[in-house]
Amino acid sequence: MAEEVRVRYAPSPTGNPHVGNMRTALFTYLFAKHNRGKFLLRIEDTDKKREVEESYSAIYDSLKWLGLSWDEKVILQSERLDIYKEHALQLLNSDKAYQQEEAIFFKTKKEGSTSWIDLVGNKSIKFENRQVEDFVILKSDEYPTYHLASVVDDHLMNISHVTRGEDWISSTPKHIMLYESFGWDIPQFAHSPNILATDRSKLSKRHGSIGVLDYKRDGFLPEALINFLVLLGWTPPSGKEILTLSEMIEEFDLKDLNTAPAIFDVRKLEWMNGEYIRKTQNSKLKTQILEYLKDISQGKLEHPADEELDKVIPLVKERIKKLSDFIPLTDFLWEKPEYEQEVFEKVVKKRLDIVKLLKEMLEVMEKMEKPWKADMFEKTFRQFGESHGLSATQTFQLIRVAISGQLVSPPLFESVKILGEEETLKRANEALAYLEKSSS
Ligand code: GLU
Repeated sequence: MAEEVRVRYAPSPTGNPHVGNMRTALFTYLFAKHNRGKFLLRIEDTDKKREVEESYSAIYDSLKWLGLSWDEKVILQSERLDIYKEHALQLLNSDKAYQQEEAIFFKTKKEGSTSWIDLVGNKSIKFENRQVEDFVILKSDEYPTYHLASVVDDHLMNISHVTRGEDWISSTPKHIMLYESFGWDIPQFAHSPNILATDRSKLSKRHGSIGVLDYKRDGFLPEALINFLVLLGWTPPSGKEILTLSEMIEEFDLKDLNTAPAIFDVRKLEWMNGEYIRKTQNSKLKTQILEYLKDISQGKLEHPADEELDKVIPLVKERIKKLSDFIPLTDFLWEKPEYEQEVFEKVVKKRLDIVKLLKEMLEVMEKMEKPWKADMFEKTFRQFGESHGLSATQTFQLIRVAISGQLVSPPLFESVKILGEEETLKRANEALAYLEKSSS
């Protein structure tokens, strides 16, 4: 490509960027990097009524979290009002626009048609000019409309390719007419298809949390989310399903974007996140988990000591799909469990005397030679189960509930060793005291 590729991501600060916005940003970023061009960020904050203050930082944080760093200084349209006004007046003075009721309108062409070759699907898109009505370019409060500001900035920023969602297709003929009126070169356009929910309706807030930062809070890894997003509308020529950002850059081309809408299936995202967690080195996963715990508790959460985490991470790595799953699975290791009668009853049927069982189990545990060894622990409690009419699974589940209060935990013996013999006995005693009290 002869000319330098310069593309921009141009969000409006109207709320938390959602996955659709970020996918546009991602495609734009990949196209820039693949072509050794520039990825620019422009915030389109000319509609003060719809503006949400926090969205500025949410836009920056979302991009940074996903690793999509932008080149050059961020352009804020609200700081460039003079520029837009000057251009609106230029159109007014050359009779290409007119003023009506305090706002300036652009005169569209009424004959012929306007078309362009869209890079997505390499197809020609054509609008009859008579369908394109005159539109406002400058409002009475001296703020430009999206159409004017977008075209003026794309020109002044030397944007070579405009990449955005297909919702903007109907704006493109207006933009092309503006470029022509100014006598400017027209960039190329690429409109990516929409993202649909699994029920094939357009993905929106009512489909649950779709803000990028919500996924961060839910415990998704940025690498996994990026990987998931890139496949919404793009099929890598290599056919790979798991790709790093640099592999995406290597393979990406706008011409390979699908023209059909993409389907957003959160279960696939969860699966992919689990794959990423399993692929992550333990030491890196530890850092990610610690950062996650710190983030969600704003630094308040007491997190487990390093050496404990080193032991726990390999035990849970296969069992978690999201970083947040780490909490319910391992909380009992650093916090006293809360017992519930029903949880015990899920393991041992009501007709068995659970208090008596636990009491005898505790006696066996107390007598067992320390430090406990895996094979001895296993053998002792298998025998205990047999002599008390319990299956091995029931027996070990009963111990699990007694030390953790829950039915799911990392492997039992490893959990016991992390707690230590003393703490395990103490908890078994507490579980017994709880059961005695609740059954009396
Ligand atoms: N501000 C528009 C948006 O929020 C940008 C559209 C464009 O890229 O031209 O999607």
